[in-house]
Amino acid sequence: MSAFNGQSNSQLILALSKGRIFEDTLPLLEAAGITVTENPETSRKLILNTNDPNVRVIIVRATDVPTYVQHGAADFGVAGKDVLLEHGGEGLYQPIDLNIATCRMSVAVKNGFDYETAVRQGARLRVATKFVQTAREHFAAKGVHVDLIKLYGSMELAPLVGLSDAIVDVVSTGNTLRANDLVEVEAIMPISSRLIVNQAALKLKRERLQPIIEAFERASQPKSQ
Ligand code: AMP
Repeated sequence: MSAFNGQSNSQLILALSKGRIFEDTLPLLEAAGITVTENPETSRKLILNTNDPNVRVIIVRATDVPTYVQHGAADFGVAGKDVLLEHGGEGLYQPIDLNIATCRMSVAVKNGFDYETAVRQGARLRVATKFVQTAREHFAAKGVHVDLIKLYGSMELAPLVGLSDAIVDVVSTGNTLRANDLVEVEAIMPISSRLIVNQAALKLKRERLQPIIEAFERASQPKSQ
């Protein structure tokens, strides 16, 4: 069978990032009858097959998932709220919170730094973060003047070497902060991952996508009834 004889609307591409989002999405896919037959941790392949010849999974950086879906290179994907807020959500339909990869976005400082006083006195805070939009909105809402320093990783290092007074980062157990003598001084928002769907694909491939969205929705609800 050729992909050129009207089959293309039944082909689906799902964008996922390696690690926690991939692992936590597998049971949701299983609930939709889809089994990923290759492991991204042991394979270098970026396009993974599933038991359904019409469904393939692409493995991309977490921050790139919304971009692939927005442009229709993937029909749907799973992305953290942290990533979606930075992306802006343009061209994306966000039908469900999957309640996976949960953590929180927080402000942290070096142990001993008097954050409350610095904020109260209106000092200009230097804040290092990968989450520039979220940080900007958070401090603007509080009326705190900040100089934002964009980093791409290892934010925890910034206050330790004097690059910044504070960081805005995602925190799960808090172990990374503790290991680096940092303290969480403010929780900004809870974070979890959402299903995102390309808006055009939702219309053109509704028949294929809708049952998967519904299976994800059922499987991601808290199991108390
Ligand atoms: P933890 O030491 O458990 O607080 O984890 C902190 C680090 O793990 C953070 O700096 C993040 O890079 C990463 N992390 C933990 N949970 C998540 C998540 N749900 N989404 C993205 N990154 C996470």
